Amino acid sequence: MKQFENSKRAFAEASEYMPGGVNSPVRAFKNVGGDPLFIERGKGAHIEDIDHNVFIDYVLSWGPLILGHADDQVVADLQAATAKGTSYGAPTELETELAKKIQSIVPSMEMMRMVSSGTEATMSAIRLARGYTHREKIVKFIGNYHGHSDSLLVDAGSGVATFNINTSPGVPKDLAYDTLTVPYNDVEGVKAVFEANGDDIACAIVEPIAGNMGVIPGTQEFLQTLRDVTTAHGSVLIFDEVMSGFRAAYHGAQSLYGITPDLTTLGKVVGGGLPVGVFGGRRDIMMNITPAGNVYHAGTLSGNPLAMTGGLSTLAQLNESLYAEMSAKTTRLVEGIKQAADAHNVPVTVHHVGTMWSYFFNAGPVNNFDDVQASDVAYFAKFYKQLLQQGIYTAPSQFETNFMSSKHTDDDIQATINGFNAAFDAVENED
Ligand SMILES: *Cc1c(COP(=O)(O)O)cnc(C)c1O
Repeated sequence: MKQFENSKRAFAEASEYMPGGVNSPVRAFKNVGGDPLFIERGKGAHIEDIDHNVFIDYVLSWGPLILGHADDQVVADLQAATAKGTSYGAPTELETELAKKIQSIVPSMEMMRMVSSGTEATMSAIRLARGYTHREKIVKFIGNYHGHSDSLLVDAGSGVATFNINTSPGVPKDLAYDTLTVPYNDVEGVKAVFEANGDDIACAIVEPIAGNMGVIPGTQEFLQTLRDVTTAHGSVLIFDEVMSGFRAAYHGAQSLYGITPDLTTLGKVVGGGLPVGVFGGRRDIMMNITPAGNVYHAGTLSGNPLAMTGGLSTLAQLNESLYAEMSAKTTRLVEGIKQAADAHNVPVTVHHVGTMWSYFFNAGPVNNFDDVQASDVAYFAKFYKQLLQQGIYTAPSQFETNFMSSKHTDDDIQATINGFNAAFDAVENED
């Protein structure tokens, strides 16, 4: 049995200083029970906790680490950048270099702004859409998560779903009132909300491949309808690709559907493990940002040289063939998990797109937030504890996505499938 005594002690101490002992709620193991693991180090596909337990890691910092932990080249580039100074508050060529690289991969981002988190990217994109259209209402989808800014914390996914909160205390009523929510993949719902409010809607924001209620791909018809009605009503379409960008496919979810949004938000992989978010898109809309226009946006550490280096160093190593390889590994893994569950008569639905994957203890189909909620979270909690004992670290919630990195080997994947089988056995023996 793996012991977690040091993590337990560290968590108790952290809880004296930080609410719930963490700086982001999904890190707490609240809905699987037990205490979170405190991490000492990571290398490649593996992490080691402060009790010296080693795990195959599929959380990968919740998405950013597509090259795994402490990639040699990324570490070397960051060390070199650090030696030159950590921040200037004046422009560097690194910012243009990263912007050019991003544009070459996601061509719809004609212009862009660097920020320090996905939350900042979506918050700024919403303000821009409101400023550009002179309208106030926004449309979002139930179970989609766009960070923790006020307008977007309504019927959200991720921790908001895990902890069963619809709208957070502290969000002004009027802001929540201006956020119209529609079930994900609900084509008629999209048409209806625009029919009723179209000329007051500044924008619709959507995760084209939802990743904050587990992985749920948007249907082609749903996303195309959204494109059509936003165009018809002069509303801005924002694809929130903070997770799906450089994850669902090299060129993002928008390339898979062949649909071009007006604005795109990026985060996670684009910083390679450093704090980066990006919002960008149509030049005529982006030119409304200060100082080119008058929609305000700023940031002391926006475009920070270390953050830009983390992104550049990571993106430099990505290419189509690496994605083909990582996708094939992901397919092999989820098929193995499905077989393991079937062999143990445990109802499961597995979803994967590119390097994003999830397993729902649910016979399926799983196409929206209501479907996700029908999953067996009690079984998930029991199963999760056994999976940790097997040295497999996946997201500690039924409402989150897992990831694949370039560093996971065939041996890691086979060990993971074996670990799932052993965990199913162990839960069976508990009952
Ligand atoms: C993670 C995420 C965010 C928020 O990004 P942070 O860097 O955590 O602020 C926004 N949108 C989506 C789709 C995300 O997955």
